[in-house]
Amino acid sequence: MIEAQGGCRCGAVRFVARLPDPPVPALDCNCSICSMSGFLHIIVAHDDFTLVSGGKLLTSYRFGSGMAEHKFCSRCGMKSFYQPRSHPDAWSVNARCLDVPVALDVTRFDGRDWENAKAALDGQ
Ligand SMILES: [Zn+2]
Repeated sequence: MIEAQGGCRCGAVRFVARLPDPPVPALDCNCSICSMSGFLHIIVAHDDFTLVSGGKLLTSYRFGSGMAEHKFCSRCGMKSFYQPRSHPDAWSVNARCLDVPVALDVTRFDGRDWENAKAALDGQ
């Protein structure tokens, strides 16, 4: 595994995450919020993620089923990680918010057809 640091645009939110050796598996989702924001998902178990700073600045946004908790910095608006609906025991970290880009193995996730996409993901 490798250790990666990252955070939001303004630097208030900072985290450290343990990731698999590159190429790191990542999901490119086409749902409304991911496609608008350009979020590129790296799934990181809660135990492998440490929020270093900025917890008090995080604001939440929920929509649809309400199961995902979209957390963004209330200062700069950047969503550097959040609680995804697809993986309740993990955070989804935005690969674009890592300090140093890592090589990715990107899989497309059809978030506009979420139930089938999740079933396909679990079947892998
Ligand atoms: Zn910020």
